[in-house]
Amino acid sequence: MAKSNRLADEGFARFKTYLREQRLKSTAQRDAIVEIFLKGAGHVSVEELYGAVRKQNPRIGYATVYRTMKLLTECGLADERHFRNGEARYEIAEKDHHDHLICERCGKIVEFEEDRIEALQEETARRLGFELRGHKMELYGVCLDCRRRGREN
Ligand SMILES: [Zn+2]
Ligand SMILES: [Zn+2]
Repeated sequence: MAKSNRLADEGFARFKTYLREQRLKSTAQRDAIVEIFLKGAGHVSVEELYGAVRKQNPRIGYATVYRTMKLLTECGLADERHFRNGEARYEIAEKDHHDHLICERCGKIVEFEEDRIEALQEETARRLGFELRGHKMELYGVCLDCRRRGREN
């Protein structure tokens, strides 16, 4: 709890600095979008973020949300992800490395970190002569809730 607040505060400060460097003005609308994004659960699409933002301020337009997420990505605060041809989804870039499990039925995204998989990837890359700089691991399947629901029907 305290940790995520600190991340949000630091993120916010960094965004402000970035705007200044780019000679862009800081607006109340941009601030509201960034705040909602930084406090959210992550893996959010522009569409979903737009929905959340509109509840607080109905005057904020879709294009403003879209552009703000581009700015957040440029300044390294947000990571843009495309899960299996889906629309872009954004998460806070400052978090520790993690991989994703994605439910093909309900779209739920679960984060995980597995040391053995991490080590094996390093090892595989090294064996093939690569110095590993990063990776994206996405596992697709059906989550427990959806499997339970399937059994009930
Ligand atoms: Zn599911
Ligand atoms: Zn994630």
